[in-house]
Amino acid sequence: MPRRPYRRAGGGPPAEPAGAHRPFETAPLHRPPVWFFDLDNTLHDASHAIFRAIDGRMTDFVQRYLEVDLEHANQLRLTYWRRYGATMLGLMRHHAVDPHHFLRETHDFDVAALLRAERGLARLLALLPGRKVLLTNAPGAYADEVLRALGLHRRVLARYAIEQMRVHRTFRPKPSRGMLRHMLARERVPKGRAVLVEDSAVNLRAARAVGFRTVLVTRHSRTLARPSRAGYVGLRVRSVLELPRARSRLRG
Ligand SMILES: [Mg+2]
Repeated sequence: MPRRPYRRAGGGPPAEPAGAHRPFETAPLHRPPVWFFDLDNTLHDASHAIFRAIDGRMTDFVQRYLEVDLEHANQLRLTYWRRYGATMLGLMRHHAVDPHHFLRETHDFDVAALLRAERGLARLLALLPGRKVLLTNAPGAYADEVLRALGLHRRVLARYAIEQMRVHRTFRPKPSRGMLRHMLARERVPKGRAVLVEDSAVNLRAARAVGFRTVLVTRHSRTLARPSRAGYVGLRVRSVLELPRARSRLRG
């Protein structure tokens, strides 16, 4: 019987600009890095079904909470997404929405039933030298559920979800450079030893600017812009499973 690449049965976020960045040095990594892993579309295929589930619940939340029709709800979401990088931030600022209430309602579904991921992730994390940290703009309860369903909850003990990405009581999710700098300090990672593994080029660009090494993961992302030679991408892989072999090519 052919081996299926995924455990279970497959939508996604937008694109990114190009711009100034620090040139890469060729210095290889002599000591194990600290790996900061994004979650959605990096460790699993959120575009398969999970993003659709969240998206539908967000639009539904906006309709109910603000008592607007579907078209208006979609327009508001797009406006807030463009202006603040997240629907939630716009709802908090303009409509006094409680972020925890919003996150709970929009992620209230059976994660395991919709999850699709590659096999071998637990083994990958065991093989990869260096500490692993989760850095996701998703809520903590959802992130925990995904990690558990992937069998990674014991492999990734340091976890930063959107609730922890606050600076002066304001949410500063990726790609906030201030938050990324704060994470380096909080995890006590020396410059050049932190690696961000991500599907989002916008996030990688910001991370690179504050001193992370960067790995672009392309397999699950449905976004159109996929920089292959962008200066802020230190290594491009299709799947995180390539990391143990490809990490020697990681530029710093
Ligand atoms: Mg992602």
